This record gives sequence, C-alpha cells and structure tokens, in this order.
Amino acid sequence: MKFKDMPYTRPDMEKVKKIFKETKEKIENANSALEQIKIIEEFANFKKDLYTTIEIANIRLSIDTTDEFYENENNFFNENKPIIETLNTEVSRAIYNSKFRDELENKFGKHYFKLLECKLVLNEKAIPFMQKENALSTKYDKIIANSKIIFRGKEYTVSQMPPLLQNSDREFRKEAYQAKAKFFEEHQEEFDNIYDEMVKVRTEMAHALGYENYVDLQYKLLNRTDYNHEDVAKYREKVLKTLTPLAIKIREKQAERLGIKDFKYFDEACDFKDGNSNPNGDVDFIVKNAQKMYNELSPETGKFFDFMVENELMDLVAKPKKRVGGYCTSLDKYKSPFIFSNFNGTKGDIDVITHEAGHAFQCYMSQYQLLPEYVWPTYDAAEIHSMSMEFLTWPWMELFFGKNTNKFKYSALKGALTFIPYGVTIDHFQHYVYENPNATPAERRKKYHELELMYKPDLDYDNAFYDSGAFWFAQGHVFWAPFYYIDYTLAQVCAFQYLLKYLDNKEKTLKEYTTLCKAGGSKSFFDLIEIGKLKNPMNTDILEEIVPKLEELLKNMINKSQNDEWLYSELGYCLAEQGRQEEALESYFKAIELNRNDAWIFTRIGMCYKNMDK
Ligand code: ZN
Repeated sequence: MKFKDMPYTRPDMEKVKKIFKETKEKIENANSALEQIKIIEEFANFKKDLYTTIEIANIRLSIDTTDEFYENENNFFNENKPIIETLNTEVSRAIYNSKFRDELENKFGKHYFKLLECKLVLNEKAIPFMQKENALSTKYDKIIANSKIIFRGKEYTVSQMPPLLQNSDREFRKEAYQAKAKFFEEHQEEFDNIYDEMVKVRTEMAHALGYENYVDLQYKLLNRTDYNHEDVAKYREKVLKTLTPLAIKIREKQAERLGIKDFKYFDEACDFKDGNSNPNGDVDFIVKNAQKMYNELSPETGKFFDFMVENELMDLVAKPKKRVGGYCTSLDKYKSPFIFSNFNGTKGDIDVITHEAGHAFQCYMSQYQLLPEYVWPTYDAAEIHSMSMEFLTWPWMELFFGKNTNKFKYSALKGALTFIPYGVTIDHFQHYVYENPNATPAERRKKYHELELMYKPDLDYDNAFYDSGAFWFAQGHVFWAPFYYIDYTLAQVCAFQYLLKYLDNKEKTLKEYTTLCKAGGSKSFFDLIEIGKLKNPMNTDILEEIVPKLEELLKNMINKSQNDEWLYSELGYCLAEQGRQEEALESYFKAIELNRNDAWIFTRIGMCYKNMDK
C-alpha cells in the first residue's frame, strides 16, 4: 500500500486499555503453553496495528510540523503513549512470569525474555514523568524546526545550514557558522531550561522507580542486555587512545591541503580547496540511480528498493515546516519501512539514500519476524546495517559523483573516523549530567567543554559562545534520546570491519551482512555481532587492529583524489609564475578536461591571457 493511502483513525483508548488488560488475564489464566503462544501471537498483531497507527501520525506531522490535525494526534499520543507503555509492561510481566517459560523460550527465543525483563522496570509511577519528558522533547523540536537564521540577507532553518558550512570560500563558511551559532546563543536560556527540566524529570522518575540515578534505568529502557556504563567507559578509553590521535593527524593534513595555518572549527567541513564533492543531480536523479544501484548490489536489495519507490515510502526533500534531520521507521502492519529526510544538495543526500536505506533494508528483511520486538534490534546493533550500507554501496558512487567519487569516499571515511571521538564526547557528557543531576546549566556547559577538549585537544571554535560549552544544544539526541549516541560509534566500528572485509571479498561480506539483517532484533547486540561475523568493539582489540588499516586506506584515497587534476593546476601555476604563459594555459586546460571547473582555475586562465595581452 502507498503511504498516502494508509488510513488513519485515532485509536479508541478505552478499547486499547481493555485489550491490554484482557491479554494479561488470558495469559495468567492459560492452561497450556500452546494456549499462551496463541495469545502472544494475537497480541503481537494487535501491537503491530497500534504502533503503525502511532507511526502514521508521527510521520505525517514530521512532513508538516504545522499540520493541526496531526499535531493534535501527536499531543494525544504524547499523553497516551506512557499509558500504553505501562499497560504493555503489565502484559510483559504476565508473560515473564509464565509457568510455561521453557516452552515459550523455545518458541520465541531467550532474548525475548531478556527484553521483557528490561520492560519490567516501568510501572504506572513513571507515567507523569514520561508525559512531561515527551512534552519537553516536543518543545525542543519546535524551536529547531521553526528556527530562522538570517545569513547574507536570506533566511534558513538549522537543517538548511550544512551546505553553507561546507562552502570552499573561508569567509563565507565562517559567516554562516557564526550565524548558526548566533541562533543557538539567542535561545540559550530556553535550551538550558528545557534540558535542566528534562534532567530533573528523568532523575525523579529513576528515584520513583527505585533507581539511584537515571543512568542504569535508561540503560534498561534502551534494552542494553549485555553491557553496563563501566564497559562503555572502558570503550571510550580505547577511542581516546586510538581515534583521537588519528583524528588530529587527519585535521593537520586537511589544514595543509586547504593551505590554512590557523585551522578553525568552521574549516572542518570543507575537505578540499576547490570544494567538496556534491552529487550531480536532484532528488529524481538520486532515486533513479539508487534504484539501479540496489538492483545491481543484490537481488534482495533490488526488491527492497523497488518496493520503497512503488509504495512511496520515502519523503526526501527539505521543505519549510518539515522536521529536521532524517530517520527510518516502520509501519509493521503493512510490512513497510519508511524513510524521512531533508535533502539539501550535498553529499549528505547520498548518506540518506545509503544510511537510512540500510536501516530500511534491515527492517524489510526482518518483516517476517512475528514479534514486533524482533523487527528492530537495539540502536547499537541497528546502526550497523545503516553505516555498513554506506560502505557496501561504494562501488556505485560514480553514478552520483562522477569524477569526484574519490573525493566523496575520502570525505565519507574521514567523516566516520573523526566522528567517533565526538560521539563518545556526547556520551561521556551525558553520564556526567545524569550522575550529577544537581549541577547547574553553567556547570554542565563547563564540563562539556572540558570533555570535548579531552577527546579533541586541537579544537578551536573561534566563538565565545561555543567555548562556553554549548555546542551540544544542536545535538537533538541529548534532549530526546539520552544515552542513544554511543550506539553510532559502536556500530561505526563494526561498519569499518565490513568495509575492510568488503574490499577483500565482496560476495562473502555481502552474505554476512544480509544474514545479520535477517536476524533483525531477535538477538542482543553482542550476539548479533557474532551472527554478522564481526569482532566486538568493547571487549576485543578490534579498534587497535583496524585503525592503522583505515589510516592507510584514507591516505591512498587522498593521493587518488588529489590526482592529475590537481597536479596540472599546480604545474600551470608554476609555469605562469615563470612567465611561460602558453605552457601554463595548456596545463590549466588539461586540469579542466579532468573535471576541475572552479573559480580558481578560471581566474588563473584570465591572468595568463592578461599577461599575454590577449
Ligand atoms: Zn541510523
């Protein structure tokens, strides 16, 4: 079914409550394992229907955040989702305490019971806190979605800024960066207050549920069944030892390449003097080529992407009133993933068509899973599918970037490597926040700056507001999904492994990846890693093993992307300096033939002609 044809009616909460309550009673009164299995299966279908309805409302509101109808529906769910969650917990408790536990574990797997156990931490005491939390998240989203950033006489939202921040003109990107910072500075008090309230609400909820602080509670709510905050702290140490130094080296090289002596934060997004590689076309061009790419990658990915296109399960282009960012979700009733994004004409668009499509592909492959709990894995594992897809599609990147493909790959790998230290900073910060819930907003910001300098000692914002430790205001996860961030970094380490394997043996790697996708959420993070034939980032030396290999790979790429085009440009410049204008021109034209077509080269050519009095 096409997304636009999917019907929506607000669920009757009285009916919903009744079904949850009846299910609980039926489970408790069942006289055989078989009977319980049947009840659980029916319950699974009921939940898939209910969550699909909630998701339809959510997607339609993200597409137009000013839509009053879906705003009302969203408010309705903000109020009622915590009630649904609590009712679900009661059913989970009944299943968890089943006298037929062994038979149920045989049927649904041991992991199901571990997930149920995580659910059991909630009870109705949590409802008022979760309602408050939801309302605060919505408040944050609204400020960002309605953001107005004035830059060089034009108005932009936060999500429209990235292409400006990558501009190859240093003064231009600096101004854009300052304009964005100014927006956050102007709203500092609001962000501080929203976050402060969130921390208090979450801490009070943890206390009400019998937890010392919010950290352990949220680990449970994130269904983390195989590691705790101490394991995560050790992993952050590994990152500090391996990736922090590499990231510094990468930025030193970048500064050299750009010819900048006082390299600043606003220079980081610009990888090449003559600009970053952007895709060669608009949304239709990208979707058409993506369809070709996925059909060539494997029969499974081809079938999947055709399904997404046919059923209009993607809303890709940035439009006013749309929510920021990108996500992938699922409408399990229709066995359909859905991709939401804000295309803005940068390489980020290709990340969407690979990253979010990676999520969607896993979801599509897992639709045969009966239990809704098994359709998606936990976030740490879920990001493996998406981040790996970014790499598995590399052989097709010429379709999008033409001669700039190497530049794109360089930027992608560089971005992934330098991201991890930032990711662990965000994680470390949140541990501080929830372990010290009484810290003031100013103390929090001070701590943030301390931490970011630890993981990135060469950081130079050149901006007093960011130096005060406020950079994370733009990181939505910190507000609406506490502790969901380290997941990206863990998954990235897994995706790196697939990349290195893939360069070695495409077919075998693709098989391992697809097997992992099919397993969906039927196993825990550590177990899924094993199924996918990957090494664990937390308790093995895989980081130490792969970082030198990735460094080498990156070096080779920069050599290739600074290829002949660059050499001919430089040669032309030298010749012109020596007064050999004719030869210089010849060299410049060769560079143009090789795809160089920026202002720099045309200026040089103009100067040659001027020197020749032509
Ligand atoms: Zn993702």
